[in-house]
Amino acid sequence: MALQVCKDIDSIRQWVAKWRSNGEAVGFVPTMGNLHAGHLHLVEQAQKRTDRVVVSIFVNPLQFGPGEDFNAYPRTVDEDRKKLEGFGVDLLFLPTNAGVFSNSASTTVAVGDLSGRHCGRSRPGHFSGVATIVCKLLNIVQPNQLFLGEKDFQQLLIVRKMISELNFPVQVKGIPTVRENDGLALSSRNSYLNALERQSAPLLYQSLCRAKEQIKNGRRDWAGIEKEQVEILEKAGFNVDFFSICSVDDLLPAANDHASWVILAAVILGQTRLIDNIQIMRS
Ligand code: AMP
Repeated sequence: MALQVCKDIDSIRQWVAKWRSNGEAVGFVPTMGNLHAGHLHLVEQAQKRTDRVVVSIFVNPLQFGPGEDFNAYPRTVDEDRKKLEGFGVDLLFLPTNAGVFSNSASTTVAVGDLSGRHCGRSRPGHFSGVATIVCKLLNIVQPNQLFLGEKDFQQLLIVRKMISELNFPVQVKGIPTVRENDGLALSSRNSYLNALERQSAPLLYQSLCRAKEQIKNGRRDWAGIEKEQVEILEKAGFNVDFFSICSVDDLLPAANDHASWVILAAVILGQTRLIDNIQIMRS
C-alpha cells in the first residue's frame, strides 16, 4: 500500500478503524520529524510487531519552554516523507491544521512527581506538554501499540505511567537507543553541533559507560561516582545539567537494594542540550 498522508482527524480515524475491523494490529510511532536512523529503528520494530504502522510528525509547541529551540527545530517534512515511503510505512499523520492542535486549549495532562525531576526540573512544563500531546495523539490514532525510544528514558516512564493510570487501551514498547559508531546517541539536535563540539560529544556516552562499569564492579558511593564524571565532562567543556544515578522504576536516587538502575544525564555543549542514559542490571 502507498503511504497515506492524513492531515485531519476524521481521515486517520477511518483508516485505523478499517484496519482494526479487519483484525489488523496498528502500531504508532510519534515523532517531531527530521527523521534519523533512531526514528526509523522504531518504525522497523513497529513493522515487526504490528500489521499497519502510523507515524506522526509534529513539532509540539507545548513541550518547548520560552527561549528554547521551537523555531529553530529542524523541519524536513519532504525528506521525512520519502524516508517513510521507502520503509513502507502505511500512514503519515501530519497535524498541520490549526484546528487539530489549538495553542489556546485549556486542558493539559500532568503526571505528578516524576515530571518534576531531572529534565522536568530544568524544563518546567516540558513533560506536561509531552503527556498532553501523546494523550491527544493516542485518542486520535487509537493504535494497539505505541513505540517510544529509551533515548528519552524519563519521557518513556512518564508516558507509561500516564497510559497505565488513565487506562489507555494501548501497549507501550520501549526501544533501545540507536547510536553513531562513536557512541553518540542519534538526535535531531545533533545537527546544531559544530565540528569541534561534534568531536567531543561522544564523551557523554563514555562517561555513562565508565560509571556503569564502576557500578558493575561493585562501587556504591553514588555521589562520588556522579561527581567524578561531572568533573571529567566539565573539564572537557560540557556544562552538566545533571548526571544522576537513579532507580529504574521511579528515577529517585539510587540505593543499594534496587534491582537495577539507570544513569540519566543532560549536558549543554555550546548551545546544544544533549541527553542520554544507560541502564544497569544488578549482576
Ligand atoms: P523525537 O522526534 O526526538 O521526539 O523522537 C521521537 C521518538 O524517537 C521518541 O520516542 C524518541 O525517544 C525516539 N528516538 C529519538 N532518538 C532516538 C535514538 N537515537 N534511538 C532510538 N529512538 C530514538
